[in-house]
Amino acid sequence: MADKGHLFLDQTAPGIAGLHPYVPGKPIDELERELGILHSIKLASNENSLGPSPLGWAAAQEAAGDINIYPDDLGYRLRNKLGERHGLLSEQILLGRGSSEILDMVARTFLYPGVNAVFSAHAFAMYPIFTQAAGADASIAPALPADDPEMPYGHDLDAMLAAINEKTHVVFIANPNNPTGTWLRQGALKAFIRQIPETVIVVLDEAYAEYVEQPDYPNGLSWVSEFPNLLVTRTFSKIYGLAGLRIGWAAGSQELISVLNRVRHPFHVGNIALAAAEAALDDAQFLQYSIQTNADGLRQLEAGIKALGLTALPSVGNFLCVQVGENGRDVYDKLLRQGIIVRPVDNYGLPQYLRITIGSKDENELVLAALEKVLQ
Ligand SMILES: *Cc1c(COP(=O)(O)O)cnc(C)c1O
Repeated sequence: MADKGHLFLDQTAPGIAGLHPYVPGKPIDELERELGILHSIKLASNENSLGPSPLGWAAAQEAAGDINIYPDDLGYRLRNKLGERHGLLSEQILLGRGSSEILDMVARTFLYPGVNAVFSAHAFAMYPIFTQAAGADASIAPALPADDPEMPYGHDLDAMLAAINEKTHVVFIANPNNPTGTWLRQGALKAFIRQIPETVIVVLDEAYAEYVEQPDYPNGLSWVSEFPNLLVTRTFSKIYGLAGLRIGWAAGSQELISVLNRVRHPFHVGNIALAAAEAALDDAQFLQYSIQTNADGLRQLEAGIKALGLTALPSVGNFLCVQVGENGRDVYDKLLRQGIIVRPVDNYGLPQYLRITIGSKDENELVLAALEKVLQ
């Protein structure tokens, strides 16, 4: 709804007046300034608590000497390397200023007033924002019920399929989903994609794929050659620890990638980001350490939550969605005063929950102790 009297709102493109900006996790220095405290911790944005990939960081420092020149427009070297890694042609790969930019490119390319995008309730916040910004309709499929024995609040693929109609141009799926942490298995997801008309673009958002160890968790990248309408997105923001550099990528058919390239800004990914990402891809040791630390931390947090008499949604990501009682935002505020920033998810339709990023062992202990204190 346009707030009346706001200058410029009646000149905006369709959809813009009704938008609300994305609300990020609160920055640490802002909290410390507000409360006059020190040593607070942030477990709110699913960043890698181990820091950046050391190889990526070293390459970033070296690349900083070249910031007077424009980067390679298409990121030739990085796309080649990603292609080799995943058995794809470099023409099947598109880089982005974070994978968010790629989601936006999809919306700008395929969505406009009169058509719709289908996604699940409780799905990643950028899907409704980019859909609305393009002036298109959001067709939101109900999620699985809260008492689903296996995947409470998970994507309901049958409901998503039922939501697709002749006006649908894009389907967004997050696997695993943020903020719930829930995920889709190989057989069910592939059968779903098979049933989607070829004219509908399927965006499979795999921002946390590298963390997932479940054997029947699918690798969407292995499907892009089979489905010309499938676009799989990945990011360097999460496990690689390069969120501050803003770099992600997507894989799809050459036809799909070449259409998306039409809306690409020139030199959109900076040279520091390109160099760091390329080096981080070789940082197998850091990746392995991150996977292990996250798996340990997830178990630690799940056990601690249970010991507090609380429940959490099943998660395979680097975060846990915890049910804290009637008003998650109250608990969030109390945790802030303990110097701990987590993420309220009432804006995702989950007012009883808080999303907590898996931190280091010490950070996880601190958040559990603080939760115990504030819930007393
Ligand atoms: C974090 C996240 C992204 C993208 O982050 P970028 O930093 O823009 O790459 C995309 N999808 C989901 C589900 C996420 O949680």
